Amino acid sequence: MQEKLKKIREEALTRLEQASSMEEVNDIRVAYLGKKGSLTEVLKGMRDVAPEDRPKVGGWVNDLRRELEEKLDEAKNSLAEKALEARLEAEEIDVTMPAKTLKTGHRHPNTIALEELERVFIGMGYEVVEGPEVEYDYYNFEALNIPANHPAKDEQDTFYINKQIVLRTQTSSVQARVMEKQRPPIRIIAPGRVYRSDAVDATHSPSFHQVEGLVVDKHITFSDLKGTLAQFAKEMFGPETKVKFRPHHFPFTEPSAEMDVSCFKCGGRGCRMCKGSGWIEILGCGMVHPRVLEMRDIDPEEYTGFAFGIGLERIALLKYEIDDMRLLYENDERFLEQF
Ligand SMILES: [Zn+2]
Repeated sequence: MQEKLKKIREEALTRLEQASSMEEVNDIRVAYLGKKGSLTEVLKGMRDVAPEDRPKVGGWVNDLRRELEEKLDEAKNSLAEKALEARLEAEEIDVTMPAKTLKTGHRHPNTIALEELERVFIGMGYEVVEGPEVEYDYYNFEALNIPANHPAKDEQDTFYINKQIVLRTQTSSVQARVMEKQRPPIRIIAPGRVYRSDAVDATHSPSFHQVEGLVVDKHITFSDLKGTLAQFAKEMFGPETKVKFRPHHFPFTEPSAEMDVSCFKCGGRGCRMCKGSGWIEILGCGMVHPRVLEMRDIDPEEYTGFAFGIGLERIALLKYEIDDMRLLYENDERFLEQF
């Protein structure tokens, strides 16, 4: 029996020494230690060994088993090491190869439009402020004179986090926050993302951007509103641009208006862009509702103000003559590279 084991040992070690791949090492493991391996066969033949010799023979078999397992692991490790060395050798860096060029991205049409818009208002003395996108229902609605039963709060339009917290539907929420912290004179614009549960199409998206404007001071009149927004339109769309105000309704301004600009494509004669009317609707605006001022402890007898809300995407789409809002969000490089 001892002779048999010695033979198995020599044979296994010789084979291992010659093994040059992981596969061969695994084959050797199976051939000696596997279910039908020669060492396993020896154990199965133990019943032929005299009972008094069994412990001794069992010990030999176990010793050999342990030795073979160790040698198999060693062979495996040394093969892995060799494979790694060979790979490192092959992957040596060729410093003469041309470098990968880093592709530089560039600004999004929304960003370009926003920077342009900020430049105009900063030039008129406005401060740029931001507010939270996840907003209290209170700031988004009630502080803007939109009571609980107002249709603007309809769940079809608003993403509710819970009863008190919403994804803001308008940047107007920043108005209340600013008036809460700051006393007049106030002159701010507040750009940012807003959310409505709208289905995606060429002119709608559940998430888009607005720029809110708010001015509160003594003796602010509708003329100030008109003068400011007319100046904005000229700087944004060209010195020839005319503006037109149409009466409208917003809960937080009174009186309220929508402002159109003369079509900068056709100069007002009528074209595809202005749908033949010569005018393009650009923003909503109005004099701050006295109730909104009162809620922030600003005396409407002493102070007045105006506010406006501009859809940033609308400006970008018009300015760059893009006919589908979805293009702004798809991040297709071929599209974005044009701006
Ligand atoms: Zn036109």
